[in-house]
Amino acid sequence: MTRRLAAALLLAALLAACRTVPGSGRSQLNLADESALAAEAADAFRSMPRSKDPLAQARVRAVAARVIDAARSDPDFGDPTLPPPSAWEVAVIADDTPNAFALPGGRIGFHSGMFRVATSDDAIAVVLAHEVAHVVCRHGNERVSQRLLAALGAVALDQSMRDKPSGRRQEALAVYGAAASLGLILPYSRHHESEADQLGLFYMARAGYRPSAAVAFWRGFSQEGGIKPPEFLSTHPSDTTRAARLQALLPEAERRFRPWTEPQRASTPTGPIR
Ligand SMILES: [Zn+2]
Repeated sequence: MTRRLAAALLLAALLAACRTVPGSGRSQLNLADESALAAEAADAFRSMPRSKDPLAQARVRAVAARVIDAARSDPDFGDPTLPPPSAWEVAVIADDTPNAFALPGGRIGFHSGMFRVATSDDAIAVVLAHEVAHVVCRHGNERVSQRLLAALGAVALDQSMRDKPSGRRQEALAVYGAAASLGLILPYSRHHESEADQLGLFYMARAGYRPSAAVAFWRGFSQEGGIKPPEFLSTHPSDTTRAARLQALLPEAERRFRPWTEPQRASTPTGPIR
């Protein structure tokens, strides 16, 4: 196979793996097999310790179900192919750091430590809607695809410098590695967070939770201080930047707010979170 043909085939494969992110309209690369990612995520998720508080579990699951329904049915930013709430695994994980995460295949973990910052159903919805938005946007797959591309690029560069002295090869690889992580992975992570914040805000409003809670939540989170946990972390926009951006999106989110029906209200678990 000629080099040009190989390049054309690779390009075709990449284009086939391209997908448009709802909301931002950005095109993204999904090279990894979703079902393989989901199987790997299932093992990791199963091994995490669960909170023993049944009320906390029920409450987080109830909020998640509403948010997932909203993400499935949103005509502008939703994904009708998203599995129904009953097919998701949503759990409170016994961990004192205020954190939450989404894994491919519809799994959401909500740390018990998050209840220190998310003290109302509206605030719990802020966190869960953000995580559901990451799933809708297939950010997990994209992150893996970016690492994959960066690794492929490094291999190609190494091949092309075969005849050069090894010192220069090492140098070129180091520069390439830094460029790949800073230029490719880091800015995309910020995109991911902004996309998840925006879609999450619209989903929570559609699910009947007050979108203004998102601004209050991020302000509270910035005051919580301490060690920043993995998902809600350093490559992310600062909590104050985030709160300001969400504030600007509030009028549109308010228009998307849909109050609960009486049966919905009656079926909601309430009570203190321990
Ligand atoms: Zn996030």
